[in-house]
Amino acid sequence: MGTVLDAPKAANTNTGAVGRLKEKGVKVVFVLGGPGSGKGTQCANIVRVFGFTHLSAGDLLRAEIKSGSENGTMIQNMIKEGKIVPSEVTIKLLEKAMLENGNDKFLIDGFPRNEENRAAFEEVTKIGPEFVLFFDCPVEEMERRLLGRNQVDAAKPVDEVFESVRVIFSSFSKKAA
Ligand code: C5P
Ligand code: MG
Repeated sequence: MGTVLDAPKAANTNTGAVGRLKEKGVKVVFVLGGPGSGKGTQCANIVRVFGFTHLSAGDLLRAEIKSGSENGTMIQNMIKEGKIVPSEVTIKLLEKAMLENGNDKFLIDGFPRNEENRAAFEEVTKIGPEFVLFFDCPVEEMERRLLGRNQVDAAKPVDEVFESVRVIFSSFSKKAA
């Protein structure tokens, strides 16, 4: 039960990580892009070539659900309803993951989802992103990738459509051979 005397202690516990990321000189890049934008593939490349650690906000939230923590059910419901989980919850998970990891540079994927996420991150962690990497991809192209690569743009003249069809069947024949 909370009392007035308990309050400062509780506040200290809650803010235990404050400034630690900043002290460690941790650098953060936010990575945004829709499903099928190639974000995941490029994050893996950045990790390999530039030595970043990749953290996905969505993955951390799903892991929290699996862990059976007290926030798990709330997170599960928010995700099911397509809502944005309260910033403080997601930020705590990101902060914990960064502090537990020895690296000093992180790609934070799928965060921020809104302005409130962004402002709260800076407020809580006392660090801001070096920059935001946004994989800007037209919706049609993302859909094409997600559905597999055999969507043919049928609005084109008949010969051009057959060119697309020919490419698909040629590679199929090669694979089958
Ligand atoms: O990025 P991903 O598609 O894996 O995210 C899955 C879900 O997690 C989102 O639809 C949203 O409900 C939640 N999420 C969130 N805040 C974030 C990232 C993800 O609430 N910053
Ligand atoms: Mg994802």
